[in-house]
Amino acid sequence: MLKKGKSVTPAAGSLDSALASRKLKVLLLVGACFFGLWLAITIFSQGSLWPLLAVPIIAGAWFFYEIGAVIAVGLAGLLLVQASLEKPGTIVLALATFAVLGLLLGWGQRRQRTAQRQMMRSSLTDSLTGLFNYGHFMRCLDSEISRADRYGGFVTLVMFDIDHFKLFNDRYGHEKGNEALRAVAAVLRREKRDSDIVARYGGEEFVLMIPEDEAAGVETAGRLREAIAEAPVPLGGGSMTGVTVSVGVACYPASAGSREELLDKVDQLLYSSKRRGRNQVSVASSRQRLAAM
Ligand code: GH3
Ligand code: MG
Ligand code: MG
Repeated sequence: MLKKGKSVTPAAGSLDSALASRKLKVLLLVGACFFGLWLAITIFSQGSLWPLLAVPIIAGAWFFYEIGAVIAVGLAGLLLVQASLEKPGTIVLALATFAVLGLLLGWGQRRQRTAQRQMMRSSLTDSLTGLFNYGHFMRCLDSEISRADRYGGFVTLVMFDIDHFKLFNDRYGHEKGNEALRAVAAVLRREKRDSDIVARYGGEEFVLMIPEDEAAGVETAGRLREAIAEAPVPLGGGSMTGVTVSVGVACYPASAGSREELLDKVDQLLYSSKRRGRNQVSVASSRQRLAAM
């Protein structure tokens, strides 16, 4: 029922972004070569050394954007002092040059940061629902289990699977199916506590990780099952429908001794909710819990 081992592909934009960044660097290099040529000609024809100051600016901007910007500002100050002493008329020109240089550096940095942030976000989340994806969820689960091993405490998983979702798609179409997935995700996001992690585990499967015991998991699972059953899924033209979910709850280390056992257990319990008629919550019996300890 659950698609274990499903991995998340890296963000599609990462390769494009790397290529764009390489192109930008090549462009900068070509520009720097032309600038170097102009610099050499200026130095030889005027006998003045101040244009040499541009070399550390470009080198700094090339290797360390932030440090490059600081050097640029410092050197701009120096050049301004020199220019104002020699030819007051050049102050405006110098100011304009360094303003443009600063703006270009700032613009480049901002673009880079935005691209990095977007890449980071898309590598952690599912694009349809905005919830965390399978890969990020598994990393969180690993670290929660390590925390429980080291400091004690529990990790409870609540797994949800939408009932008869294939029928839903067949009846209303795939796009409305996507609306239903978003509606379920919205309920989970709204109802979860800050310390809980909620993720889209697979196609129409969601998982909630709670750093508390099984009783807290069962209480949350029941509340969320009801909230999902009551959430409207818009069908267009003002009409609404809804979906129900079957739920499994399992707790580490109370009913499972490892991450794999925990995932297996919650899968079995979810399946047991399906067998018993769907739209309900299943939890390990106390005998099963004792056997796991
Ligand atoms: P059950 O109650 O036993 O869970 O029945 P089911 O029909 O929900 O389960 P089944 O595994 O047979 O079908 C799952 C369906 O979920 C089939 C697939 O098309 C649909 N699905 C998976 N991912 C998406 C998605 O991203 N969007 C839409 N619209 N449908 C999806
Ligand atoms: Mg399923
Ligand atoms: Mg299903």
